[in-house]
Amino acid sequence: MTASEPTLAGADRRSPVLSIENLTVELAGEHGHVRVLDDVNFEIGARETLGLVGESGSGKTITALSVMGLLPKSARIPSGSIEMEGEQIVGCPLSDLQRLRGSRMAMVFQEPMTSLNPAFTVGDQIGETVRRHRGASRRAARARAVEMLDLVGIPNAARRVRSYPHEFSGGMRQRVMMAIALACEPALLIADEPTTALDVTIQAQLLDLLRDLQDQLDLALLFITHDLGVVADICDRVMVMYAGQVIEGADAETLFEHPEHPYTEGLLRAMPHIETRSGELFSIPGSPPAPLDRPPGCAFNPRCGYAEPTCTADAPPLRSIEPNHTTRCLLAEKLRLQGVQE
Ligand code: SF4
Repeated sequence: MTASEPTLAGADRRSPVLSIENLTVELAGEHGHVRVLDDVNFEIGARETLGLVGESGSGKTITALSVMGLLPKSARIPSGSIEMEGEQIVGCPLSDLQRLRGSRMAMVFQEPMTSLNPAFTVGDQIGETVRRHRGASRRAARARAVEMLDLVGIPNAARRVRSYPHEFSGGMRQRVMMAIALACEPALLIADEPTTALDVTIQAQLLDLLRDLQDQLDLALLFITHDLGVVADICDRVMVMYAGQVIEGADAETLFEHPEHPYTEGLLRAMPHIETRSGELFSIPGSPPAPLDRPPGCAFNPRCGYAEPTCTADAPPLRSIEPNHTTRCLLAEKLRLQGVQE
């Protein structure tokens, strides 16, 4: 790691569950390999929740898929390291990845129906994970399935274990996904927009459940979302991503109150409860650049209301602006950015 690329703010733990250093990912396309993730660094400790925030295409999901070893075949990792409980994931054999997935690290996705098999009962699907990773008998796997359904708050777990996915509501299916993900007590749970498809009441219930499970199971939680309201609810620290790079990182409270990057300020202003004087919702003008179309200098400069000539000349490094707070804005010291005040 170079001196100009500090690890994420706040990452001062003796033995992180997950540690990512200088991670760069490229995807093969018509025009050769294109960089979609650029020099990402962070750590997560037990019982800690790190939020990865940004618009679609910012690199959040690519980061998660890299950790799980689920990148598409067209992807390559030219540099960087991903250590899960000290075990190197980049370049490790598939058999090692398969051992880690489900047993030490697990992931839940936005739409559970794409992950659940409609042809098997939820009990079979939870039990399958336990049988594969722990060599449990059929009877023990079924008992564990009931226990897990109970843990994630499914009423009448002993009966519902025989139900099929289509017999559950969207919120209940997401609970089933959590039961599968957590059945073998992983150390790391990656939740990729797990509540986005749900209405706000169910969303709040699931976030409460995640917090409870995290405490009970000592989970390290990597929470991926575009919704800063959810981040405020659940995350200890936040990393904001843009165009494949981390552009700001801090503990959640600091980031909300004192953003140090204009993109973060824009995301905060775009939160639904913060309205402009005219009563209209704010939105950041323009859209993020495609990986092949990155502007020179700061990748955010075409959309930034504070841009100066230097912003198109120099690519800003990620740097510390105060203890445990990093930014990729060249002008951060002279800007007075607006956060959210309680
Ligand atoms: Fe805006 Fe310049 Fe900061 Fe980029 S470096 S965010 S263009 S002010």
